[in-house]
Amino acid sequence: MELDRASCADYEWQEAWTVAGRLVIVGAGQAGFALAAKLRALKDERPITMIGSEPCLPYQRPPLSKKYLLGEMEFDRLTFRPESWYGENDIDIRLSTPVEAIDRENKLVRLFDGSAIPYDRLALATGATPRRLPSAIGGDLAGVFTVRDKADADALADEMKAGRRLLIIGGGYIGLEAAAVARKLGLEVTLIEMSDRILARVAAPETADAIRAVHAAEGVVIREKTGLIKLIGLEGRVKGAELSNGTVLDVDMVIVGIGVLPNDQLASEAGIETMNGILVDSHGRSSDPDIFAMGDCAVQDWNGTRVRLESVQNAVDQAEAVAAVLAGGDEPYRPKPWFWSDQYDVKLQIAGFNLGYDETLSRPGAREGSLSVWYFRQGMLVAVDAINDAKAYVTGKKLLETGREPDRSLLADPSADLKQLLA
Ligand SMILES: Cc1cc2nc3c(=O)[nH]c(=O)nc-3n(C[C@H](O)[C@H](O)[C@H](O)COP(=O)(O)OP(=O)(O)OC[C@H]3O[C@@H](n4cnc5c(N)ncnc54)[C@H](O)[C@@H]3O)c2cc1C
Repeated sequence: MELDRASCADYEWQEAWTVAGRLVIVGAGQAGFALAAKLRALKDERPITMIGSEPCLPYQRPPLSKKYLLGEMEFDRLTFRPESWYGENDIDIRLSTPVEAIDRENKLVRLFDGSAIPYDRLALATGATPRRLPSAIGGDLAGVFTVRDKADADALADEMKAGRRLLIIGGGYIGLEAAAVARKLGLEVTLIEMSDRILARVAAPETADAIRAVHAAEGVVIREKTGLIKLIGLEGRVKGAELSNGTVLDVDMVIVGIGVLPNDQLASEAGIETMNGILVDSHGRSSDPDIFAMGDCAVQDWNGTRVRLESVQNAVDQAEAVAAVLAGGDEPYRPKPWFWSDQYDVKLQIAGFNLGYDETLSRPGAREGSLSVWYFRQGMLVAVDAINDAKAYVTGKKLLETGREPDRSLLADPSADLKQLLA
């Protein structure tokens, strides 16, 4: 159905239409919030409408698989700002309102209730959706969870009772963080990973080895090179899992942590270029110059490779870069990736992006069990993983930011002070 402006019921479009420059943000998450907040910080007064499908105000997701899931953090500590902030900053925020379609010809976004909202500029900050198991292998059974939003974490937290047998499918950060929470809550945890090792997609074997050892010491059973054949249900609820190594496990619940898919359907259906995400240039612009995309749903260039970064840092920095462009700037966005993961009392901090690395150097830190792994590509430092080693993280980050190369002999000497690398 094509909408014309006169059919925009339920919206004071006439008033809005006369105000030049309405920005509509689709997605009220980390990036959507950062974009609106930065525009206001830049004293940009254009009308902003932010539309989000979830019922709650924009909030940070990382604690959903950490302290919030553990019950150590209240939800109001996750929200970026209280409701009053949106009114005070003249941001029209609409919750529980999924956008159905983009009508580029008439510059409208269409909602499921038949109404529409006109835009002058449109920002897509729609995030990503967890991959699910097909229903043919039990993906729809009760007791099978993913962790992406508050509703997921609340449903999961209700079921994480001591003594229950939990199977985690996928040895990435979400699965490993959920395993740590589950052990703390007293569940029996088995984690399976189809590839050769945990963290295969994101970290070197040295980092994976250290993280595996921590989980093993905490009592998590990790099975690598082990896939799922199918989940077994009884009366609609999961009760077992058949694994590729021939084992059949009795389970009470399952967490599926097998990656995410970018929410790029709105864009692709509107004829905007997508490639496992919405393709954007260094200003966050999509193939339609009036439509921007940022955060988990956006694909950008990284040294000649198309990448989609799934991190708070990228969501915030890319959104803020787009805000600056909307406000009249011309600075290209160059990601300076950093990331963290908390598991038990282990803090893993990552600076840089290890894509295409061909060499690593590991270095024990000052604390027992602390370690840093330095990644090089063609002889140049590209990333650092620091496990309970804040000094290595800070040093690595500074080196990467300034483009300086570390003295390898100093780096390889565990007794050398890392500060010397910055001298
Ligand atoms: C459990 C968990 C733990 C994490 N831990 C870390 C961590 O430790 N460190 C780190 O750096 N990153 C972490 N991340 C990743 C980080 O949270 C994301 O990269 C970040 O939230 C991306 O921001 P975003 O705005 O692109 O997407 P989101 O924050 O996901 O926001 C997108 C919003 O858009 C909404 N939306 C989608 N489609 C529509 C539509 N059609 N209409 C209206 N609204 C729509 C979604 O419902 C969602 O609310 C974690 C993520 C999760 C899920």
